[in-house]
Amino acid sequence: MTYIIMDLEWNNSYMKSTQKFINEIIEIGAVKLDEQLNEIDIFSELIKPVVSRKLRSRIKNLTHITNDDIKSGKPFSKVISEFEKWVGEDAVFLTWGDTDIRTLLSNIKTFLKKDDITFLRKYADLQRYCQCFINMENIQQAGLSYAAQCLQIDAEKFPHHRALDDSLLSAECFKKTFNAEKLKGFIKECNEDFYARLAFHPYVIKHKDDPLIDKNIFNCYCDICGGKVKTIKKWKFSNQSFRGIFFCENCNREFRVSLRIKKFYDYIDIKRNYTEIIRTDEKLEQKPQENT
Ligand SMILES: [Zn+2]
Repeated sequence: MTYIIMDLEWNNSYMKSTQKFINEIIEIGAVKLDEQLNEIDIFSELIKPVVSRKLRSRIKNLTHITNDDIKSGKPFSKVISEFEKWVGEDAVFLTWGDTDIRTLLSNIKTFLKKDDITFLRKYADLQRYCQCFINMENIQQAGLSYAAQCLQIDAEKFPHHRALDDSLLSAECFKKTFNAEKLKGFIKECNEDFYARLAFHPYVIKHKDDPLIDKNIFNCYCDICGGKVKTIKKWKFSNQSFRGIFFCENCNREFRVSLRIKKFYDYIDIKRNYTEIIRTDEKLEQKPQENT
């Protein structure tokens, strides 16, 4: 068994044929480790893009890859078939966050007309795994260089933000935190469910009668006394959430409630926010007029 840690560079380009933007892969970098975590090989190839031959300045600045560099790259299909041979049969694949694997899949679908990544058998999100070893207070997701810093790895050794450098740095994070038992919980078989999850894009639910939502979540109570409230303005969907205005007779207060309901692959996330409403006419009464 081997561990393959992969990183990609891509260029966001507009595809006329689909009228959509695609993150077109321009570089694949990867490191292969054996079961004892010894580095046994590396992979690094530039890809000649077909959708856009001009790199966005963000990519040029970040990676220092030039338009001339990619011109001399190999075609995507050729690099993928070389990579497939290099990966071999019995690899656990790791990437920092799942964006790289999503991007690889979308490029394979678009350019090779295949529905899955044939050489991907087992996969783990290295970012999620490494976050178990990092104090995550105040941040939602640890960037690679932040994680390296927390794990006392010298990121300066891999300064280029190129695919190979970033995969080498990810490999350092992996080695530093390696725990076979813990890792098991993160390794996923790349089956139908895996691809369904990967292809799923979380979305905000916009209709009150959507069958996915329990109607009771629209019942509103005062967030201070917990009592029943009068509806002043009915629920209305705007700006990614349902909004309504309510009045609590017990507390003599009016408040706005916003409810954002988001569907993820296997759960629904509900965020409820209360905002006190202070009427302007009351404010004026309280404040002495300045100009009289
Ligand atoms: Zn109340």
